[in-house]
Amino acid sequence: TIGDNFDRTATALPDAEALVEVATGRRWSYAQLREEIDTVATGLLAAGLGKGDRLGIWAPNMAEWTLVQYATAKIGVILVNINPSYRTHELEFVLNQAGISVLVAAKNFKTSDYAAMIEEVRPRCEALRQVVLIGTSDWDELVEAGRAGDRTALAEAQAALSPDDPINIQYTSGTTGFPKGATLSHHNILNNGYFVGRICGYTPDDRVAIPVPFYHCFGMVMGNLACTSSGATMVIPAQGFDPKATLAAVAQERCTSLYGVPTMFIAELNDPDFESYDLSSLRTGIMAGSPCPVEVMKQVVDRMGMTEVTICYGMTETSPVSTQTRADDSLELRVSTVGRVHPHVEIKIVDPETGLTLPRGEPGELCTRGYSVMLGYWNEPDKTAEAIDAARWMHTGDIGIMDSDGYVNITGRIKDMVIRGGENIYPREIEEFLYTHPDVLDAQVVGVPDVRYGEELCAWVTLREGAEELTAEAVREFATGRLAHYKIPRYVVVVEEFPMTVTGKVRKVEMRERSIEMLD
Ligand code: ATP
Ligand code: MG
Repeated sequence: TIGDNFDRTATALPDAEALVEVATGRRWSYAQLREEIDTVATGLLAAGLGKGDRLGIWAPNMAEWTLVQYATAKIGVILVNINPSYRTHELEFVLNQAGISVLVAAKNFKTSDYAAMIEEVRPRCEALRQVVLIGTSDWDELVEAGRAGDRTALAEAQAALSPDDPINIQYTSGTTGFPKGATLSHHNILNNGYFVGRICGYTPDDRVAIPVPFYHCFGMVMGNLACTSSGATMVIPAQGFDPKATLAAVAQERCTSLYGVPTMFIAELNDPDFESYDLSSLRTGIMAGSPCPVEVMKQVVDRMGMTEVTICYGMTETSPVSTQTRADDSLELRVSTVGRVHPHVEIKIVDPETGLTLPRGEPGELCTRGYSVMLGYWNEPDKTAEAIDAARWMHTGDIGIMDSDGYVNITGRIKDMVIRGGENIYPREIEEFLYTHPDVLDAQVVGVPDVRYGEELCAWVTLREGAEELTAEAVREFATGRLAHYKIPRYVVVVEEFPMTVTGKVRKVEMRERSIEMLD
């Protein structure tokens, strides 16, 4: 189980640094972290929580998040990750959908007053019987109870767990619609974190900067679990993502690894003070979460010195990682594909209509199977049955191509594919092309309805500093002769920023809707 695995690391490396919270300067060795985790776990037992109960955590990245993650895992309480950007409507939904009995929350985050929002929804959340606000006497009382409590109860609770028990409910990013609660076991996420750590080559000398949210699998599995299963150090640069704080944390803490979704790396690389941070300690890192532009990957290697950087592909439902590039892949493959399948995971590419496996090199729906596939969506058997078939294949909804050597490319989501005049267009390809325009900082392409062609392409772009305007005409001129005519975006919209999920993913659904309104 996750608790046993953590204890093994803490026993082997008691003095190694486990966790650093840069904003406050708080630090823990593995022995100290274990002691605090055991204290919180004992406090939760004393509060009446036990195996299978649901505890919600609603906080930005902070040490308490990690403490609660491991404390719940030790006693078999199912941790429910709540998105830090939720407001009352979504909070109430999650509290009720997952039947959360104890909620651990930050008092506030940025402009959000969590405490007030919790009070507002509380009367409508029947299962919720206790709220513990971090940084208040609630938290101190939990810790006090844990100190006074009986550690044999903890040992007994821990020994009663099975690796296949559900231990975590993670809601998907909500990129394509309403988030779904993926229910994951110890076995699911611990193994995935372990293999991610192994492929990144983590040892106790590694220090991993984690600016991606803990509430998401990128932070809690590929970040925390990869670190604790390999004895590496978890470094929290700031509560929310901030490019300067991230770069400063890497420099100050001599981090060897840095994580981010593409938009985060773009923000860091384009920070006006970029050159002033000493990033020479960086060796590796992970870019994942959405299509990783080749150009950005190259800059991460060249300008950030992350020569062993890898790309991961996966989804919340698969713990999350299914494919990853390896440090010894050629640079070309490492920046342009999502790598090969992970150990003990299977992948096939199927025709979404017939379900038949396609030959290598042909695009189709990527399906994956193995230890990593979630137990199911929490309390949603119908949605689970739609996603996981009788042979336990998870149907990802992503379009992938696998070459003869097993390297996978993700060309987009089935839902995002644009069909213009009968031609299938993968927005990813057009986005990659637009990045090569000197004025373009970031680009996203969506399909909008068109009477003549069924759909037309609409490109949303953000511009580099100094660039003032980019018209559809200019794009057409730039693209003519280099892109097939039907792939040239008919519309171009220049914006300051794209609509994003808190995980830094572009919400294409929203962009499509807004494009339609704008063009009307
Ligand atoms: P929802 O399922 O709620 O609509 P979501 O699918 O964005 O949201 P996640 O589970 O966080 O929620 O993200 C998984 C998805 O992210 C994958 O299905 C895939 O579309 C995309 N993705 C992840 N990694 C990559 C990558 N390296 N390249 C391209 N796409 C990626
Ligand atoms: Mg999804």
